[in-house]
Amino acid sequence: MISDTYTFKILRYDAKEPEKEPYFASYKIKVIPGLTVLAMLLRIRDEIDGTLSFRSSCRSAICGSCAMVINGKIDLACRTQVAIFETDTIILEPLPNFEVIKDLVVDMTPFWQMYEKIQPYLIRKSSEPEKEIHQSQKDRKKIDQFVNCILCACCYGACPVLNRDGNYAGPAAMAKLQRFSLDSRDERSAESLEAFNSEDGVWGCDTVFRCIEACPKDVRPTDGIVGLRKTLLKNKAKEIWRAVKK
Ligand code: SF4
Repeated sequence: MISDTYTFKILRYDAKEPEKEPYFASYKIKVIPGLTVLAMLLRIRDEIDGTLSFRSSCRSAICGSCAMVINGKIDLACRTQVAIFETDTIILEPLPNFEVIKDLVVDMTPFWQMYEKIQPYLIRKSSEPEKEIHQSQKDRKKIDQFVNCILCACCYGACPVLNRDGNYAGPAAMAKLQRFSLDSRDERSAESLEAFNSEDGVWGCDTVFRCIEACPKDVRPTDGIVGLRKTLLKNKAKEIWRAVKK
């Protein structure tokens, strides 16, 4: 650790008081080795400034609530040790590409709307099974990385396309779409993928891998997007082939 006392500079803003410009508030606080940025935020709120707002829940990188920008890098506050930085100043800012509600709390509505659009659940056309539907280990492996997504929105905040185009579905929604389209138990139609065969969907991605860099769970949303593009192109090729054969 650089020092036993750190300065936390936190970007403060309240959407209910839009006339006040955002500003950095500084908090000096003692840090003991092993503490995370989230642990320090909780102490700052409890011991210094009860008006500070941020989201958190599990403290174990499972709930995905505490995504923010930490010294310029998007990450979860609960899995970021204060001691990893070569400075005793920690700068905290809210996730980019979202409207700020207050301080580090952003309005996740666009993220959840995109997620809802991809119908993030198993779609079945067959009749109700009498027992659970078997999935082989080989089939499960195909979706493993996408299942690991905790919907923290780090990738959404890092996405340069969303920075310029709020209509783009975003990496997390596309990764989840691939998760369900690859699932051996899912029976969604090829047509349902067509809704994302556009610049707002799979073709909007710049494939610059910022989402992969930002993901705290090693999900590779770009792989999902590229996989969806291949599926859509294959479906199109099949359609043309069927038309030629007629
Ligand atoms: Fe978070 Fe990764 Fe899921 Fe994006 S893909 S929401 S960064 S876990």
